[in-house]
Amino acid sequence: MTAGEKAALARFLGLACASSRGGYAGRPPERAFLGDPDPPEAEAGAPGGGAHGSGASAGGAFSEGPGGSAAGGAHGGGACSSGAAGGPAPGGVCFGGAPPEGDSIGRIEEEIRACRACRLAQGRQRAAPGEGSLSPAVMVIGEGPGAEEDKAGRPFVGRAGQLLDRMLGAIGLSRGANCFIANVVKCRPPGNRDPLPDEIAACAPFLERQARLLRPAFVLCAGRVAAQALLGSGEGIGRLRGKISALRLGGADVPFLATYHPSALLRSEDLKRPAWEDLKLLRSALEEAGIDLGPAPGNAAGGGAGGGASGGGAGGAGEGGAG
Ligand code: SF4
Repeated sequence: MTAGEKAALARFLGLACASSRGGYAGRPPERAFLGDPDPPEAEAGAPGGGAHGSGASAGGAFSEGPGGSAAGGAHGGGACSSGAAGGPAPGGVCFGGAPPEGDSIGRIEEEIRACRACRLAQGRQRAAPGEGSLSPAVMVIGEGPGAEEDKAGRPFVGRAGQLLDRMLGAIGLSRGANCFIANVVKCRPPGNRDPLPDEIAACAPFLERQARLLRPAFVLCAGRVAAQALLGSGEGIGRLRGKISALRLGGADVPFLATYHPSALLRSEDLKRPAWEDLKLLRSALEEAGIDLGPAPGNAAGGGAGGGASGGGAGGAGEGGAG
């Protein structure tokens, strides 16, 4: 690990860099990030939940949207015709079908805020459609809004959101510049429970449309619930994370990486290091795809708190595992 990577890791872990020992010292490990009295969520190895089903790499509620291109192998060059509607996006992902005429991120947002297609509409204060760059290198997808997000109508704004911003910043990403952040359900599940399969399915067309318009080069999935929903898998996040696969989303096979939800990192110190490994893998994959993220980890901006548009929400209670 280079000195720059060590510095970025230290920032991500919330530690001060110890010059004398060449390691990380200062505060006890990340106490500043802790404080959630709940036991760690069963992030690793939790059962899948019925309707996500089992299956291969891409499936669940997000298998194939209208107008999708032929499955397989379109990203990374080759099969993507630049003359096709959509054509290759930055990073080489081929979004084969054009979005429906007149569709836009703003229009989707309006529809989400008015949507009552599932029971989650009943308890929400504000839906959180998603936010960020409209030409993102990375689309970050979590499970659903928590209490803070429900109040703000924005994704990932509480303590977990601040940590997410720090995680992204450590590898040169931010929602203000090159990420779009969304969830598989746009309205808060009551009591921060996991969204149910029929709720995920009802909301899936919004995420499909967002992806089709945004054409991200990469999808970073935060947490077990979103990973299971997107992949149509019943595996725990400990098995789903740490490897790049192809996700069928928005009519394209988009490179996909799952990692731990930042809420899980707030609860468990042990997960921070593997999460950092995931982020480094993401950064490497983006660089290999020719996407410029600025200085390498260690010099990247965003090591400080927040960054981007995370704004308020210094961490209210009841954030749960949601984003
Ligand atoms: S969660 Fe999605 S499908 Fe359900 S009411 Fe909200 S926007 Fe509509």
